[in-house]
Parts: sequence; structure tokens; C-alpha cells
Amino acid sequence: MKNNKAVVKMMPPQADPDSIAAHMQRVLELIGEDPKREGLVRTPERAEKALRFLTSGYEVDVEKLINGALFTHECDEMVVVRDIEFFSTCEHHLLPFFGKLHVGYLPDKKVIGLSKIPRLVDAFARRLQLQERLTHQVAQTLQEVLQPKGVGVICEARHFCMMMRGVEKQHSGTLTSAMLGAFRSRKETRDEFLSLVHKPQSY
Ligand SMILES: [Zn+2]
Repeated sequence: MKNNKAVVKMMPPQADPDSIAAHMQRVLELIGEDPKREGLVRTPERAEKALRFLTSGYEVDVEKLINGALFTHECDEMVVVRDIEFFSTCEHHLLPFFGKLHVGYLPDKKVIGLSKIPRLVDAFARRLQLQERLTHQVAQTLQEVLQPKGVGVICEARHFCMMMRGVEKQHSGTLTSAMLGAFRSRKETRDEFLSLVHKPQSY
């Protein structure tokens, strides 16, 4: 039994023809590489691990993530968490896009533990994504769980598929936003959010 375990551990994962690693090995062949050369021997296995991490958001139970972190608090001041770094994968090219998200909401009795917001962002970013959808999913989830007076999310990102291929515009960024409730209907609320997001950091 003990020996069997050792053997399983030593077997390259590509031995399972249905594994991601096995398919990665085939991809290497198809681009004209030699998967047997030294630097590439473990690459299919590493690529599988990386891909599983980059898509681990599918496994996150968002409800569970948030449960236990909701608090009742009489407060009608805007809450803003800005400059939340994220790394995601574009579903059209399987290339990274990354940047920052700024999240704001206007509570109505319920608030959420602040550290949960970046974790919520990761849960949606670690999937095959569109920047527009990522922005919207974060806003929509907060709207559903907090039922606040409004939610605003702004996402600034740069896409490898634009920087490295095609148009090769290295410095162009993409901006998306989702404004719900008061953030959509009241200009003052939206302006307050935007001014907090753009305020220079003072600490
Ligand atoms: Zn893309």
C-alpha cells in the first residue's frame, strides 16, 4: 500500500489522458515545442495548477463567504473600499486582465465586514471573465445581500489581450462601472462616490 502511494506520486499527471496537464502537453506539441525537453517536463503539471488557481472562484460559495459577516448598524454614510487589486482571466483569449476595483454602498441598516469585499472580488475575478460582468457581479451581489440604498462599483483594468496581441496598445486602460439604486438615480450620491474614489490618499 505504502509503495503504491509512492508510485502514484511519482507518476507524471499527464499519465491521465483526461487531465488538464495531458491536454497542456498536447498544446505544447501543437505549437511546435518538444514537451520532453528539460524546461518543459513539468510545465503541463504547473500549467494545470496555475489554471486551477486562476479559476478557483467557481468553487467559492459566495453566500457562505458573506454569511456571518453581516451586521446591523444604523448608519447612512457611504462606505467606500477603493483600490482593491484583482487579477482575472479574459474569457475570450484566456489571457490575464488586472487592475483595481472601487466599491461603494449606501447602507440601509445592514453593513458587511470590510475584509469581505476584497474576498468577494477575488471570488468573481478567479473565473473566466469579462470586465463588464465582473463589475456587475460585485455590485449585484452586494445589492442582494445588503439591500442597501445603492451600490457603485468602478473597475479600471488592463488587458493582456490588448497589450500583447492585436492592437498592442500597452498603455490603454479600460473603465467599467455599475451603479445601482441611489448611485444610479441620484447625481449627488454618484458624485460623492466618485470624489471619494479619486481623493488623494492622505495616510
Ligand atoms: Zn481578451
